[in-house]
Amino acid sequence: MKEPTLATLKRLFAKSHNQCAFPKCDLPIAEDSGTITGIVCHIKARSKGGPRHDAKQSEDDRHSFPNLVLMCARHSKIIDTDPKLYTVELLQEMKEIHEREGWIEFPSRHRNTPEHLLENYRLVYIEAHRDVIINKPQKVVFPRGRSPKIIPEGVIAGNSDKRGYIMYLVKRYHEFARNDRPNYKYTVLHGLILRDFGKKIDHISIDRFSKLAEYLQCLIDNDTRAGNRNKREGIHSYRSFEEYQVDCLTAPRPKKSRKRKPPSDPQ
Ligand SMILES: [Zn+2]
Repeated sequence: MKEPTLATLKRLFAKSHNQCAFPKCDLPIAEDSGTITGIVCHIKARSKGGPRHDAKQSEDDRHSFPNLVLMCARHSKIIDTDPKLYTVELLQEMKEIHEREGWIEFPSRHRNTPEHLLENYRLVYIEAHRDVIINKPQKVVFPRGRSPKIIPEGVIAGNSDKRGYIMYLVKRYHEFARNDRPNYKYTVLHGLILRDFGKKIDHISIDRFSKLAEYLQCLIDNDTRAGNRNKREGIHSYRSFEEYQVDCLTAPRPKKSRKRKPPSDPQ
């Protein structure tokens, strides 16, 4: 799968001065927290049948700087929904005007933003019938209403055992924390992880799995009253990764419930 190079995304992001290229939109591409909310958009679509796709364009050109523009999620959707209005010429003009006064060097707090943009670009998942398909986006037919997702290799989301264990620890921490503070919010832990690992759980590199597991175990042991007491008394507050894997192998697989979606509101 061809994709834009990191150098291209660095240039693109610097030129965007961290702002959506749509006229008068001042939404950022990356929040100060590091979360990426903007989208790498193709002026001429990358795939056949996509908006403004040009069959004659080479793959390299398709992913090169002149064919890319950064926009907020809303405007990225708007331009792709109405390609008759948002023509190649119009988008090129928007890009040109927007990038005229870009940063020469972008601020250090955005040092990793181009990398994160690239990761997000790769992150189209495929979730069909609970199966996770890695890097095979083209040949899969999606059930209606499901969005395609690609999981890049080498991140927590791509390893079901390790991801399962991390989510188990997260759940365990929530249980302990809620016991201490009834108004504890789930988002607190995810905020801490984002702060200390720079990414959401699914996007964290698989190489950092042990670090992340240790981090969560440490939080349970030291940051919660019951966890702390257990630790003093030599009681385990959570299973080890090995125990978790054994339990998963021996536990009966829960039946998949066939819950219906609640009916949507009448228009
Ligand atoms: Zn916008």
